[in-house]
Amino acid sequence: MVKKNFTQISSLGEFGLINKLTSDIRPKHKSTIMGIGDDSAVLGQGGKEGRLIASDMLVESVHFDPTYTPLKHLGYKSIVVNISDICSMNGVATHATVSLGIPNKYSVEHITELYSGIKMACKNYNIDLVGGDTTSSSTGLIISITIIGEAQAKDITYRGGAKPNDIVFVSGDLGAAYLGLQILEREKQIFNKSHSQPELENYQYLLERQLKPEARVDVIELLGKINITPTSMIDISDGLSSDLAHICNASKTGFKLFEEQLPISLEARTTCKELRISPAVCALHGGEDYELLFTVSPKDYKKIEQQKQVKAIGHIAEICNFELVREDKSAIDLKSEGWDSFLSSK
Ligand code: ADP
Ligand code: MG
Repeated sequence: MVKKNFTQISSLGEFGLINKLTSDIRPKHKSTIMGIGDDSAVLGQGGKEGRLIASDMLVESVHFDPTYTPLKHLGYKSIVVNISDICSMNGVATHATVSLGIPNKYSVEHITELYSGIKMACKNYNIDLVGGDTTSSSTGLIISITIIGEAQAKDITYRGGAKPNDIVFVSGDLGAAYLGLQILEREKQIFNKSHSQPELENYQYLLERQLKPEARVDVIELLGKINITPTSMIDISDGLSSDLAHICNASKTGFKLFEEQLPISLEARTTCKELRISPAVCALHGGEDYELLFTVSPKDYKKIEQQKQVKAIGHIAEICNFELVREDKSAIDLKSEGWDSFLSSK
């Protein structure tokens, strides 16, 4: 309960709160090249290399539901979502710390299982786990991870570098992780009512996208190989429209996207039909795909247009409009409606 005269956090939202808390913070050290405001902080010593640091926290009942989230997958995902923030700076993740708040309903076996996923992700992505903290929690399980990475200073991409006419690219496909969550929620409700076993066979791809995402290090490698430094980049955690809005707000630009260009898997389209939701709405507003969204200067377009891992979906606009051109060629004004943990009743 928030007392009279106090402000509900939900009235500001997650980003409004971060802004209120941090807008007066000014870096004191020359080595702070980028502080608050991007996917990772960037530290440097004036040399050619930059150090990247990012944190992400997963909280029980906010970010995951323990009734349908295998602990091993949860551990794996908690590392992967952090690596994704280093990827979105065009860097390589190298080290991590893991801090846990553990409620007493979890056993040693449970936490060992969680850790087996953490270790598997560290092995697959070549990360050294170098520390952390462990404490009890009076509410749910809390997993807080800090990740450290590195990049050549000249290669680091920020949210604020997009220029009008740059081409907007996205890797992989969109909306599947959101649909995976809808299926898990639906089966949970059916189970709670009738105790019938969940029917999940037809949704393997969507469930994997939700429960065991991967960070697109392959796309970072591709960009290096074809010699492209994006003008801006972010990973899609909140949803395409919301994360592209972050790029545009930081770059003081707008965007124009084309619905027919949005990459949506066959599995996602089939399930959209079943659930009677629009595939474009899932691709635009569904979060947690952990794909990379980036902008490329028109002069680099030829170098990347044939690459299968990424797709051009629109371009950056001069005016700060967020526009979607529908399949019937009509244009609509897009409000950012991605996922915000303080506005979850939306
Ligand atoms: P992402 O979605 O990539 O994880 P966030 O939206 O969580 O990024 O954070 C946006 C920016 O605000 C980042 O630079 C992050 O480090 C910073 N930030 C988030 N929470 C806090 C906080 N409590 N104090 C200081 N900085 C914060
Ligand atoms: Mg991010």
